[in-house]
Amino acid sequence: MTEQDRQRMAERVQRVRAQIDAALAAAHRRPGEVLLCAASKTQGPETVAAAAALAVDLFGENHVQELVQKSAAGAYGGKPCHMIGHLQTNKIRQAVGCEMIQSVDREKLLRGIEAEAARRGLCQDILLEVNIAGEASKSGAAPAALPALLEQAAACPHLRLRGLMTIPPAAGEDEARRYFAAVRRLFEQLAPHCPATARWDTLSMGMSGDFAAAIAEGATMVRVGSAIFGPRQYPAPPPQP
Ligand SMILES: *Cc1c(COP(=O)(O)O)cnc(C)c1O
Repeated sequence: MTEQDRQRMAERVQRVRAQIDAALAAAHRRPGEVLLCAASKTQGPETVAAAAALAVDLFGENHVQELVQKSAAGAYGGKPCHMIGHLQTNKIRQAVGCEMIQSVDREKLLRGIEAEAARRGLCQDILLEVNIAGEASKSGAAPAALPALLEQAAACPHLRLRGLMTIPPAAGEDEARRYFAAVRRLFEQLAPHCPATARWDTLSMGMSGDFAAAIAEGATMVRVGSAIFGPRQYPAPPPQP
């Protein structure tokens, strides 16, 4: 990573921060009401460490292996890292113990996380991921499945429910905003039905293309990748025969 790369990232983080502040002000919300989660999938430890020195509040990873490796390398600089990607049950062991698992969307996952947290004697913060548009290609629980998940979570003393996470369809900002509003309504409707152990305070929604709309609709955390790190560079596909 060159000095110029660092400089560019610092500028991008400043810009995102300014846009978050502007969105909060426009919504008559207080400054500081939104946490900035840097979605650092595919970014190496050096880049992540450089981001940790900037004004991001926490990191989010999609793959448990990346979380474990970058964490071991000290890349997060003491900042929290959340699991924000789809979680397979065979990866629960490695995921439990991170500051928050945002992608809990089914009973099997709830039970597996509870069992592992109990075994380790810790309390795991989680969000329920909701598939607000019913997209078959995406993970997340259907809105109608949430009350049952809340009930099941009440029977899991080593889980602490913190709120909801969502990834709406990649659409225009107007359409995204309608989905964000729907998730916010769910967040409010479910609040009285939370187990006593819950701390229902987190609404994780909004990415690089739509975080202003999410903030307008009440997001308390935005997960921003490319607007901080630049366009993602996936490994080149293998040459075609
Ligand atoms: C990649 C990712 C983001 C950030 O996406 P950008 O469009 O790059 O900001 C947020 N949330 C999740 C779950 C992601 O996988």
